[in-house]
Amino acid sequence: MTSRRKSIPQAAPLAAYRAARTRIDRAVARVLASGRYVLGPEVEAFEQEFAAYIGCRHAVGVGSGTDALVIALRALGLPPGTVVATVSHTAVATVAAIELAGLTPLLLDIDPKTYTLAPAALERAFRSGQSIGAVIAVHLYGQAADLDAIAPLARRHGAKLIEDCAQSHGATLGSRRLGSIGDIACFSFYPTKNLGAVGDGGAVLANDDGLAVRLRELREYGWRERYISAIPGMNTRLDPIQAAVLRVKLAWLDRANARRAAVAARYDRGLAKTGLSLPARRSGGTHVFHQYVIRTPQRDALRATLDRAGISTTIHYPVPVHLQPAYRGRVALDPGGLGESERAAREILSLPMFPELSAADAARVIAAAKAA
Ligand SMILES: *Cc1c(COP(=O)(O)O)cnc(C)c1O
Repeated sequence: MTSRRKSIPQAAPLAAYRAARTRIDRAVARVLASGRYVLGPEVEAFEQEFAAYIGCRHAVGVGSGTDALVIALRALGLPPGTVVATVSHTAVATVAAIELAGLTPLLLDIDPKTYTLAPAALERAFRSGQSIGAVIAVHLYGQAADLDAIAPLARRHGAKLIEDCAQSHGATLGSRRLGSIGDIACFSFYPTKNLGAVGDGGAVLANDDGLAVRLRELREYGWRERYISAIPGMNTRLDPIQAAVLRVKLAWLDRANARRAAVAARYDRGLAKTGLSLPARRSGGTHVFHQYVIRTPQRDALRATLDRAGISTTIHYPVPVHLQPAYRGRVALDPGGLGESERAAREILSLPMFPELSAADAARVIAAAKAA
């Protein structure tokens, strides 16, 4: 035994499995014993439970969050090449999906306090006379993008509103859960998300019956009836083993989010007088703290100090999409520039954040950050 203390991970999907091990093992065994290994009752049950939880009429289970975005965009029936506005400060999947759907991304700047789409940037883009067919609002780190401003703007300009809820399972704005506000919403169940599977998974939510029918066709070869493709589709079905695990975890989601909020409250108190910028909470909504992101010009030094203390941190994300090799110099950008996105990428740091993070470990993170 060395004197070095156990290291603290930034995320811990194994801890989430251990917390519900018996129920998860039983759910997986149920699928294996059922002989039904593609779609079927387990996926349908999860879809109904998740739609009810979010407050939406339909949920369609798919293979990943990226695929959710791709078929959501395709289901909207936008003409090929239509401009879709979103942010550069997001998981690359948001932007990759736009191109995979045959559409054209327009990357806009963020609000420096909430790190979500700046309504002023969207307004500027609409004013510039560009025809924008859809807007993807990313609810980054666990709280809502400014939909109170973005939704009316999109509506006024005839653009569809897509919610990227990959980081906001269970968060609210006003009296509604995120994912029930726009025309269509996309979730990822990647293992470290607030609602995480034991592999890849995703879902698209919509209230419109016609959209739901199209989504179900698109995820399975465009079939309206078996072996007959009514439209060109793909294969991106939510796996029933993942659906069974997700049903167990969905029942626990509110408690898991409450624990994340408790960790965030500890960080808020402990780091209040350090000069670090702490996460801003949008009023009128709840934050489910997919990430607890602090900000400081001395980010790299702080990160190195925490690392030496055995504390893992991550940067979400280190390079804005418009500066990554695959996109640089090639995608359409905010006419006002992306200064806030580029500054944020240099200064942000995601501290350890997961429901099972103990009070003692949170105290260790706070002490190490203060010492730095
Ligand atoms: C995780 C994530 C995605 C992609 O989800 P995958 O399931 O990994 O394909 C999309 N958007 C955001 C904001 C994400 O965080």
